[in-house]
Amino acid sequence: MFKKLNILDEKEKTLRKKSSNANLPLSENYKNIIKQIITELTYSQIEEKAEKYDLRPGMGLAFPQLGINERIIVIVHEVDDGKFDEYVVVNPKIVSYSNEMIAAEVGEGCLSVNREVEGHVKRHARVTIEGYDIDGNKIRIRAREELSIAFQHEIDHLDGILFYDRIDPNHRFYTEYELRLI
Ligand code: ZN
Repeated sequence: MFKKLNILDEKEKTLRKKSSNANLPLSENYKNIIKQIITELTYSQIEEKAEKYDLRPGMGLAFPQLGINERIIVIVHEVDDGKFDEYVVVNPKIVSYSNEMIAAEVGEGCLSVNREVEGHVKRHARVTIEGYDIDGNKIRIRAREELSIAFQHEIDHLDGILFYDRIDPNHRFYTEYELRLI
C-alpha cells in the first residue's frame, strides 16, 4: 500500500534549521523512510501514478523536509523514458565544483514550496559530492547539469536554505548571454 509522505511546507520554521550529521549505519527506520521517499519521487515523475496519488513532480527530497533535521538527501533522476537513477547520500559534502554557472531556464521548484516562484537560481554546472551510503560506505558522485542543480538544491536544505533565497531580487532573470540556461 502506497502511503504519501508528510512533507513540510515552507512556513515551518524547522526547515530553516541547520541539520546535523546522521549516525551511520542508518537505522532500519531511516532505511524505510528512504524507500518511501524513492517510491514517492519515482511515482511523482510517472504521469499515471502522479495523477492517481495526487503527487506534484519532484526529483529530490531532503530529510529536513520531513521534520528530521539530519543530513540525508535522496534524488531520483529520470535518465531515459521511465528509467530512473536513484541517489541516497548521507552527510553529503560538495568537494569540488566548476566555476561555470548555469540555471534551470524554467526556474526551480520544491516539494515544500506550494507556489510558483519565478526567477533563475544560479548553480554550479558541475559538482563532485562525497558522503556515505546507507550502510556507511564512503561514496563519491560526479553530477552535471540538471543533476548538479538537484544536488545543490537538496544540500541547501540541510543548511536551512530554500531555492528562492538564491534568486537575486534585483536581477531575477538572466539572458543566455549572461548565464547558460538549461
Ligand atoms: Zn526543495
